[in-house]
Amino acid sequence: MTTLSKANTTAQWYANRYPGGTMSRLDKFLLHSTETRSWPGYGGGASAPTATYHPLRREIRQHFPNEMSARALRDPSGTAVRENRDNVFQLEIIAYSDFNLAKRVGGLWIGDLTASHFADIAQMILELGKHGVPPTSSVKWKEGQKTYVSGVRLSGPAYDAYKGILAHMHASGNDHWDTGGLYCSKLKKALEQGLPDTGEDDEVSAQEVWGYTNKSFGEEDAFARLRRAEASAGAAYEKAEKANRQLESVAAGLSALSFALKNNNLITTEEQEAINAELSGQGKPGLSR
Ligand SMILES: [Zn+2]
Repeated sequence: MTTLSKANTTAQWYANRYPGGTMSRLDKFLLHSTETRSWPGYGGGASAPTATYHPLRREIRQHFPNEMSARALRDPSGTAVRENRDNVFQLEIIAYSDFNLAKRVGGLWIGDLTASHFADIAQMILELGKHGVPPTSSVKWKEGQKTYVSGVRLSGPAYDAYKGILAHMHASGNDHWDTGGLYCSKLKKALEQGLPDTGEDDEVSAQEVWGYTNKSFGEEDAFARLRRAEASAGAAYEKAEKANRQLESVAAGLSALSFALKNNNLITTEEQEAINAELSGQGKPGLSR
């Protein structure tokens, strides 16, 4: 039997008083809201989920092992399955699905859960992946809805066959409508981002930042590659400048020659001026960095 790595397993542990059935794998991660402002007593464990998450404290209390069935759903005989025992991990979130009640008592409305809260919940789901829980959801959600939710509940066989994330409002044989307006899209986003940053691996390579991959350079560091590219460009610029200076020098030589020719009456003044006009237009390629 296992528990979530970040859960407190002593404060409200009910596995000894209310031992449930053993589940060899987990198909579902089912969310509830407690409709309370703090840790519920769960009748001493009689109606406890697998674990409870306190968003405002960002704490988790686990009540049963991951592989043991919990007790926060109804298990009516009218449906095909025993909902609590159907390979489901149940998480109660200390929040209110009922928006007006939350405002009246100064509690946290479920629609106000933040990215940090979803990152915490996502981490639990990803951790349970090794038991079989897929980090996906294909049931209907009513994101942002502040009152009673209907039209999303699964039939007994559909609940039994379902694999992924769902809520009490989806469970067959039940009438509660939590988690109401919870933003499952934000939970999905947190799941896509994977495990939250632990702060242990803050050094990122240039390759990670720029996605630089080039087979001909293998695993070469992208910064080094960029430095070399800049050095090559610098060298090319210097060569061009040198060529420019040589051109200017040649032009100066030709100009001097034209004066000598004119002075020796080998060319006319007009011809000498034409040569210099021509030269003044050269030797300035206009190279700019
Ligand atoms: Zn519930």
